[in-house]
Amino acid sequence: NDRKDFFHLLERCQKENGWVENAIRFYTATGRYEWIEVYLHKEYIPSVGETVIAGTLVNMTEWKNEINLWKEKANRDVLTGLYNREYFEQYVSKAMENKLLISAAIIFLDIDDFKHVNDTLGHMVGDDVICWFAKRVLGTFRHTDVVARYGGDEFVVFVNGIGRQELIHRLQQLCDDFRYPYRNGEVEYSVSASIGAAMFPGDGGTYLELLDRADSALYEAKHLGKNRFVIYHPELDYL
Ligand code: GH3
Ligand code: MG
Repeated sequence: NDRKDFFHLLERCQKENGWVENAIRFYTATGRYEWIEVYLHKEYIPSVGETVIAGTLVNMTEWKNEINLWKEKANRDVLTGLYNREYFEQYVSKAMENKLLISAAIIFLDIDDFKHVNDTLGHMVGDDVICWFAKRVLGTFRHTDVVARYGGDEFVVFVNGIGRQELIHRLQQLCDDFRYPYRNGEVEYSVSASIGAAMFPGDGGTYLELLDRADSALYEAKHLGKNRFVIYHPELDYL
């Protein structure tokens, strides 16, 4: 793609007067692709009696890397390093507009009685429990699934290409893992969560619809006594 861009830039330079410029990746002697800002213009060389294309190359790699790092940081939750709510919303909305999407699920998790963790162990241990929980959720899903911190003690997961049986299996696995408590030195504490899930396309066709239904299912899981998962079903709308 970059080679095409480069020749396109040369063509433009031939036709236009003044400078043309573009950022193009070059394979350099360092063995890496580096971002180079290319400035070109036409120049008459009297000694040769010909017009040539001359230019300047400015290596932008570090600057580009910094911007990429900064963009990546803006997508992340500071405490857990998971994606944040804004990124999740953007990513899932876009994924659900894709005509090729066949099946998917949104999973909503909320730690049970988390206020009690803060009250008994302190806010700092509370923070650590949130990070520990984040790792546990991340470990249950594939690297292609998107796990995000929705806020506070709430997490969301978008799983692409999943059927009902596989979803039940994953959610059961998560709940089974709650048997293993959080440990930090002398501290041992049982942490569970309530989980709600909704499936695309059956339960909703848009991000907001699916999220709302996963939230109803989560509410039902809390209502039924916490530490369990519920997959959305239409009767929940009448409860
Ligand atoms: P429930 O079982 O109904 O979910 O009850 P809960 O005690 O978990 O309460 P809820 O989910 O409504 O509230 C979550 C609490 O998490 C509220 C807030 O004090 C605490 N919290 C939110 N963000 C943070 C954080 O970043 N660090 C810590 N330590 N606590 C947080
Ligand atoms: Mg909670």
